[in-house]
Amino acid sequence: MSAIHLHNLVKKFGGFTALKTMDLMIEDGEFMALLGPSGCGKSTTMNMIAGMEDPTEGRILFGDRDMAGVPMGSRGVGFVFQNYAIFTNMTVRQNLAYGPKMHRRPQAEIDRRVGLIAELLQLTPMLDRRADRLSVNILQRVAIGRSAVMEPAIFLLDEPLSNVDAAFRAVMRTELKHLQRQFRQTMVYVTHDQLEAMTMADRIAVMDHGVLQQVGTPIEVYNNPANVFVAKFIGSPGMNLLPGRPAESDRGLVVDLGPLGATAPMPERLAGALRGHSGDVLLGFRPEQAVLAKDGRGIAAPISVVERIGARTIVHLGEGETTMKVVLDNDPHASFGASALVVPNMQAVRVFDRASGNAIGGAAHG
Ligand code: ATP
Repeated sequence: MSAIHLHNLVKKFGGFTALKTMDLMIEDGEFMALLGPSGCGKSTTMNMIAGMEDPTEGRILFGDRDMAGVPMGSRGVGFVFQNYAIFTNMTVRQNLAYGPKMHRRPQAEIDRRVGLIAELLQLTPMLDRRADRLSVNILQRVAIGRSAVMEPAIFLLDEPLSNVDAAFRAVMRTELKHLQRQFRQTMVYVTHDQLEAMTMADRIAVMDHGVLQQVGTPIEVYNNPANVFVAKFIGSPGMNLLPGRPAESDRGLVVDLGPLGATAPMPERLAGALRGHSGDVLLGFRPEQAVLAKDGRGIAAPISVVERIGARTIVHLGEGETTMKVVLDNDPHASFGASALVVPNMQAVRVFDRASGNAIGGAAHG
């Protein structure tokens, strides 16, 4: 069994708490991304799973085996870091074969494994090239291959793509997903790049300041962020968040957006939760879940920036805490300074308590 259970894990460095009581179950064969900004505790968590750091409190279980005191070499994990670790004086083939050779695997098995991994990672044409003649992109591929060839039941990757170029990163996202499907390893993947997590992971554990914020499938954390941090961190651009107050009106329960001069009628699933809520809220909607209109009901705001990025256009509206972004598939002929009406899809809106940042009514937890 290669499920990983992080049970109330805490890590302190002197007086500083890098990880605060993390409880996370990673299923056997699951691709879990640990996602969050720099310094949130992702690598610390990973290093404890690998056995490079000891937890201050809590337990790590692989299946039902407690890992306390089990050294890294005996945990059966493969680990790939941001900075590739390979032997530059060897060929790609020798690098890939190194681990199985050290474990005295039969030559026929080494050849089979090296051939398979080389094929999966598109390294076959360069198997006999010396590593010191290869680009950083290819070297990172070799580093991933060197770990993967050991066929570890648990595969840990810490920002493996952050040093490779953008085009190559897109190719590698697909290859890593293939690799994991092929071997069905339990994969834990550390990244600060929400796109990597969204495109590859079965589930994402979003972290901030040493605290696990939410665990869910990519679509759950995108559609139902548990709090304002997740709402802003997931998605590019992140979710729009407009300050307002719940109020009763002849249209039922609305969020009064104050200085924006608009009121947003709440769908039934939110109206109930908001009726019992006192205090300010933030109305959240994804930039992709709104359109621009010329007349009718909507949130009026001046257009401040129009970014045309190929097939999509990102229109920025308003200013300060009432800034909004709307992503449109078509070219809206929007121009700087013009006024537009932002019309969010009210069925998809979210509402957060302004003081705590937590979602009101129906955040998803996986
Ligand atoms: P990054 O992507 O920048 O590595 P991260 O989310 O992986 O970020 P960690 O490396 O886990 O973050 O670090 C979490 C916090 O713990 C940071 O504030 C870091 O400075 C601190 N930290 C990590 N290792 C140590 C250490 N050995 N001694 C003291 N503080 C540490």
